[in-house]
Amino acid sequence: MQIVGHQKQLKLLQGFLKNSLFFSSYLFWGLSSTGKKQVAQEFVKGLLCQKSVFGGCGKCLACVDLRCAGGFGKASVSKRDFLFIDESFLPSLIIDSDDDKAYGIDTSRAVIKFLSTGPSVAQRKVVLIDNAHSLTQEAQNSLLKIIEEPPSNAVIILISHKPSFLYDTILSRTLQVYFPIIGQAEIYEWITSQHRMMEKEAQEISKFSLGRPGRAHAFLQDRKLLSQFKRAVIQLLSFEGKTSGQKVILLKNFLESDFDLSDNLGLWQGVLRDELLFSCGFEDLAGVLSQKRRARTPELIKSLKKLLSLSDLSDSFPATAEAAFKQMVLSKSL
Ligand SMILES: [Zn+2]
Repeated sequence: MQIVGHQKQLKLLQGFLKNSLFFSSYLFWGLSSTGKKQVAQEFVKGLLCQKSVFGGCGKCLACVDLRCAGGFGKASVSKRDFLFIDESFLPSLIIDSDDDKAYGIDTSRAVIKFLSTGPSVAQRKVVLIDNAHSLTQEAQNSLLKIIEEPPSNAVIILISHKPSFLYDTILSRTLQVYFPIIGQAEIYEWITSQHRMMEKEAQEISKFSLGRPGRAHAFLQDRKLLSQFKRAVIQLLSFEGKTSGQKVILLKNFLESDFDLSDNLGLWQGVLRDELLFSCGFEDLAGVLSQKRRARTPELIKSLKKLLSLSDLSDSFPATAEAAFKQMVLSKSL
């Protein structure tokens, strides 16, 4: 998938490579599905490339080596100068370990071992950790040591949409690159340049992607997801003005339809955000809603705050967050 938006971030990273300005650790952060990993992958190629070309020159030994090793396709495979860690990573690929889960202390030990030797063909050795917020406290403590005293020619890039789960000591030692959501018009332009479809459908996809190109891509791959999302928005909007009994039935249907708490909280936040924009007279900035809604600003702000705190809770204690979510829907406060 092509990188959508993030011109400022691309320019910054390209500038680092061009001017040989390197940091030993980076944090790419921002909401999920905004394109952090895609940009990180192109940056990694540039860090490895012998000519330091963003995205790789494709011809030098390091670029060929990465391509031959399967590029970024197989998360579990250790490349010669590059290590990619996501939920399928097995520490036993690098060290003696019985841990069959990624993000534990053995993953950090594997990173330390991997970076203990210099690069073979590339400019430097690079470790890319996706969803770095999943690292356990023990793993973060262990990783901190190498972040504090990195070997020469070693680079660690952390990707996270929940950076608050990372230790402050890690955050303060990384160069942070923020990835915001993308404007609806830019996503629409990208969709129509890549796919032939009715204007209305392209508009709908860009609207319901809520500024996240990854989500627009998922909708393009599977239109059922788009209709599920639309149904969820309609359900969310219909809670207002219903009696308690009707709310219970709606909530039951809502929770039973492939319910993903964090995704739905995000959707609800998007809907409330739009209502807030409408109530302040900024209809043009709205993402999901297309009709003017009645103004109820103080209540909206209160609801948004509650949802934001629930988002955090849903990461640590999903069951508690779901219970609070149910209570919130059923109460008169939303
Ligand atoms: Zn190259």
